[in-house]
Amino acid sequence: MKHFDAVVVGAGPAGATAAYRLAVGGARVLLVDKVRFPRDKPCGGGVTTRAARLLPFSIDPVVEDVVDRFELRLDYRSSFERASDEPLCLMTQRRRLDEFLARKAEEAGAEFRDGVSVAFDDGNVVVGGERVAAGVVIGADGVNGLTARTFGLSRDHGHGVALEGNAPLDTRYRGRLVLELGVVPGGYAWVFPKGDHVNVGVGGWESEGPRLRDHLRRLCDVHGIDFAALNDLRGFRLPYRRASSTFASDKVLLVGDAAGLIDPLSGDGMYEAFVSAKIAVEAVLSGDLGAYESRVLAELGPLHGASWTAKYALDRFPRLTFAIARAPLAWGVISRIVRGDIKDPTAARGLSRAPLKALDRLGKIAQPA
Ligand SMILES: Cc1cc2nc3c(=O)[nH]c(=O)nc-3n(C[C@H](O)[C@H](O)[C@H](O)COP(=O)(O)OP(=O)(O)OC[C@H]3O[C@@H](n4cnc5c(N)ncnc54)[C@H](O)[C@@H]3O)c2cc1C
Repeated sequence: MKHFDAVVVGAGPAGATAAYRLAVGGARVLLVDKVRFPRDKPCGGGVTTRAARLLPFSIDPVVEDVVDRFELRLDYRSSFERASDEPLCLMTQRRRLDEFLARKAEEAGAEFRDGVSVAFDDGNVVVGGERVAAGVVIGADGVNGLTARTFGLSRDHGHGVALEGNAPLDTRYRGRLVLELGVVPGGYAWVFPKGDHVNVGVGGWESEGPRLRDHLRRLCDVHGIDFAALNDLRGFRLPYRRASSTFASDKVLLVGDAAGLIDPLSGDGMYEAFVSAKIAVEAVLSGDLGAYESRVLAELGPLHGASWTAKYALDRFPRLTFAIARAPLAWGVISRIVRGDIKDPTAARGLSRAPLKALDRLGKIAQPA
């Protein structure tokens, strides 16, 4: 039987970067994905600068646009724009990004098998029918992951839902992303610029599922996009980890969406995928798997706590929340978080704390008992 120090199940951003780091660290690693690459995945494909900065290599070869301006709008009416001297978000397509990351892992020495399904038999890993021995299993198999199910981890997430599609590029969106607030309960609508198209999408509470098509049609109407002509229209679930969810055991570590690590406000998960993969690999290489879960929670907990508060504030008091976001001091904090200059709102200092405190108070009033 072939032996690997680690078998990584799933080659999305979490799995591929975990495999890359493990291989660079000298581990024998097998990276497996049930789908043949290159493959796409429902996603806006926006890699925030804070996420990109975590990677040990540049993703420039697959970046199609660099966003340094955010346009925020409320109820498809009021709007304001803010710019940054430095990039805020790198726009890519998951078909290209995930292929790039998986090949990076392969170049670093990981064995990559795609189009092959993974199963578990009595704790053993079976890859395309072949039984392999694994020192550690890293479950990077996404929101519907088999690894979590098999090993009894992280099954009690809450969920959001999102629907997205592509339309021909209108150059007015170049270098600029648009966020439409107050239009989808529990979320927002977006327009993201790519090389030759824009990605449009809507996301919100799971209960919005039956209305997502209507929300997306409205977004398209407002932006002069032909809804009927959208390409690659796809929906998917977003997992929001609950405080009681566990995502590690003595032999299995879940990373990224498999662990439910999506930012509840933005719906972003690639930053979380990269963070959890990095910490998982440090735990594996140091032989201290027990430290993994608490280290991830220490790293992401304050950010996600603030995101939940802001999400409830936005949902219940959209106008007030929008006014706070528009306040001159707020943009400095928002842009520094997006760029990764500060980890979360608790790290903000001085006068910029004022809008955050107001948002926090609003969110505490709004959150369910
Ligand atoms: C509509 C939408 C828009 C989004 N937009 C953004 C965005 O703009 N920016 C952002 O940061 N985040 C965004 N997200 C979230 C982001 O897509 C996820 O957080 C991210 O993909 C998580 O990466 P992952 O590696 O954990 O899982 P995934 O990317 O889901 O990868 C899991 C992989 O596991 C494989 N797999 C599953 N089961 C098995 C098995 N049994 N054996 C082998 N392989 C298996 C799958 O084929 C897949 O390749 C969006 C999500 C949605 C739904």
